[in-house]
Amino acid sequence: MARTNIEWTDAVWNPVAGCSIVSPGCTNCYAMQMASRLAAMGSRKYAGLTRKSGGRAKWTGKIRCNKKSLSVPLKWKKPRRIFVNSMSDLFHPDVPVNFIADIWAIMAATPQHIYQILTKRPERMTEVLFYTYPPAFPFLLNVWLGTSIENSETLCRTKALRKCSGARHFISFEPLLGPVADADLSGIDWVIVGGESGLNARPMEAAWARDLRDKCAQAGIPFFFKQWGKHIPEGQQKGLLDGVLHHDFPLQPVGE
Ligand code: SF4
Repeated sequence: MARTNIEWTDAVWNPVAGCSIVSPGCTNCYAMQMASRLAAMGSRKYAGLTRKSGGRAKWTGKIRCNKKSLSVPLKWKKPRRIFVNSMSDLFHPDVPVNFIADIWAIMAATPQHIYQILTKRPERMTEVLFYTYPPAFPFLLNVWLGTSIENSETLCRTKALRKCSGARHFISFEPLLGPVADADLSGIDWVIVGGESGLNARPMEAAWARDLRDKCAQAGIPFFFKQWGKHIPEGQQKGLLDGVLHHDFPLQPVGE
């Protein structure tokens, strides 16, 4: 199994590798640094996807689709939550529609798993899922669709996300870089919040996380507080928001 430290999933599945920066939330992209390390260790899957600039790894913009990885979830008999493409963005403009259709077919063939697709490009997700002809993207009960939002400038992504039909809609506010008290959470089934980790991590203020916690409580939306990241505000504890562990999931047991 492709193990992961990401608390809100059980496994990662990476049929696509490589990406390019789209907004400020990407600046310290974990996948970009990890792809560079894996390439340095000799992994052909990640070779040439990053270059060094100012001593740090940067995406080259090259995307690699890995046909061999497609069959991986077929071998996982035990039901699990699977994060699709932790090392890329499935709806990057250079991921071919045909390859996304292949991924869709695998998800349809493995209803025992729940697939969590998270994109910073929900506009392309809408285009691909709705306007591809012949239609290749049926609604799947085991596919959750999500978008990442880092600040008020990226809140518009929720609008595009709502247009797509997923079994569940979720938003990952990670890394949260500014207040998003105006977030419209209507039609959203799950909210994840997290701060940034790593060398140049930017701090998340407790008030920003509290705003989202309170909005979710009011609307009855499951709230998952992942972590503070590198900077833990005074009076807060690792992994807890105001002393409370929030690890809620939408109601859909794995394997149902
Ligand atoms: S979209 Fe995701 S994978 Fe791509 S650069 Fe941004 S954070 Fe990294």
